[in-house]
Amino acid sequence: MKRNIFEGSSGKMEPFIRSDQYHFLKQQLRHIVQTNALVNDREMVRTVQGLAMDKMKDVFHGLTDLQKRLLEGMTELEDRTDMEMFEARILPLVHPFEMPEEGEVRSLFPHLSRVKTPVLGTGVDRRDLTYVSWFDPGLDRKFIVTYREGVLTGMEGSFTYSGRKNMCVICREHEYVGLFVTDATAYKRKGNYVCKDSITCNRNITDQKHLHKFMDDIKR
Ligand SMILES: [Zn+2]
Repeated sequence: MKRNIFEGSSGKMEPFIRSDQYHFLKQQLRHIVQTNALVNDREMVRTVQGLAMDKMKDVFHGLTDLQKRLLEGMTELEDRTDMEMFEARILPLVHPFEMPEEGEVRSLFPHLSRVKTPVLGTGVDRRDLTYVSWFDPGLDRKFIVTYREGVLTGMEGSFTYSGRKNMCVICREHEYVGLFVTDATAYKRKGNYVCKDSITCNRNITDQKHLHKFMDDIKR
């Protein structure tokens, strides 16, 4: 990076990046820097930077000029240090997941009594979360809660750990998964593999649409 493109611009900027968008950006940054390190070809690096910018335009909508300029700084990255600096500058602009209150969680699952509110482990950054999930051993249910268009929504079902790696339906990565079965899926006799560790899963999410599709499919 030749100059500090954030100078005097991001100081008072409000968060505008979702967690999945943040992970998407990190993925693109890694890709640019890796290409730069591997390929001694300016043309090639510029192509990868251009592709990253194109993808970014699909992921972000309705950005202000200032926000756009900030993210375009991605194309000036050259090495790992640049990448780490860029990540550190965009991190304060990521929306932290708003932990739901007890009453909100209860009203999502009115058919279940004594639903507990999720508690995050120490060291979990709420900016890494697209959803929260917890297992209630008393009820023997796994809960998944997220926001869609700002509205809290959730699902619950049984969860059986498979002890193996497989593709997770939410993050689309190869991770240790278990079979998640809701009443609706049980009726259809179909379950879905979901990461055992929801924090790992969240950190993998680069597009929240897979989670939304999963929720829609289950309700159908
Ligand atoms: Zn996952």
